Amino acid sequence: MSYVGPDFDPPQPRRSRRPLTVALAALVPGALFGWLVYETVGGTGGDAKETAGAPASSSAPVSPTVSEPRTAGHDSAEQPSPTPHTTAPDTTKSAPVGSGPLRGKVVVIDPGHNPGNFKNTAAINRKVNIGTNSKECDTTGTATNSGYEEARFTLDVAHRMRAILQRQGATVKLTQDGDRPYGPCVDKRARIGNEAHADAVVSIHADGSAVGNRGFHVILPGSVHAGAADTRAIVAPSRELGERVAGTFVRVTGSAPSNYIGGGTGLVTRTDLGGLNLSTVPKVFIECGNMRDSNDAALLTSGAWRQKAAQGISDGVASFLKK
Ligand code: ZN
Repeated sequence: MSYVGPDFDPPQPRRSRRPLTVALAALVPGALFGWLVYETVGGTGGDAKETAGAPASSSAPVSPTVSEPRTAGHDSAEQPSPTPHTTAPDTTKSAPVGSGPLRGKVVVIDPGHNPGNFKNTAAINRKVNIGTNSKECDTTGTATNSGYEEARFTLDVAHRMRAILQRQGATVKLTQDGDRPYGPCVDKRARIGNEAHADAVVSIHADGSAVGNRGFHVILPGSVHAGAADTRAIVAPSRELGERVAGTFVRVTGSAPSNYIGGGTGLVTRTDLGGLNLSTVPKVFIECGNMRDSNDAALLTSGAWRQKAAQGISDGVASFLKK
């Protein structure tokens, strides 16, 4: 289906199986304990059709929860809204200029996809060079069963993150702000971060996997050196960024790491994404949940939960920038 694209290609097997649990535990012991005590529901290994090739056989250091109690922050009134508008407070104008702990830091937020991609399939299907090979310019992204599009989710979370980070003094740039008919292409998305000399870049997504597949995962760049792609210098700092984001995302949202990819670590390394391959600055993707699972969708469609997601991601970015 049209959702298959750069974001959902089979991920590369993780090259290392560093026990992230340790890193996560160091960052957020309280939160980890919180979701570890949830009772794990059986049959968590759903049919991850869009993440086929995931290192599903990897030994999970923890059993991610898929149980029910993660309902905090529900904003059910928003759930069926097919054309939601962002409700993120725009504090741009009130953000203190040149002050705050992140003063001088540049953060680029990449809201995955674009609501207009659905209407511009020819344009987004054209191939662009991502160094290792060519890929589609962009993809439509997924949607919940009730029609809440991933592209609207990503833009909303990006707006909330921008407000949070600007309040701390960061200079924040978005790769797109609903201000263009489609895209930009994944190579351009990477170059926007590069050209901004970003100290950190986060690409916001939500997955489109099978029912029963739940939780978030952060995607880290693997080492790539081919054509225009050379990630060797950003692999280590991106991993640190990603580990911090995963830890703070757990702490703030209470969500568990993915139960279908990443072996329970919430971290996946990939070398097939142009947005990562072409980056020359520390960058990660985050798949905040699975839009095709009704339980995750209930969270993703909640404005209150999206605020937590934005806070969780932003806290990780801020932690990385202040290290
Ligand atoms: Zn996506």
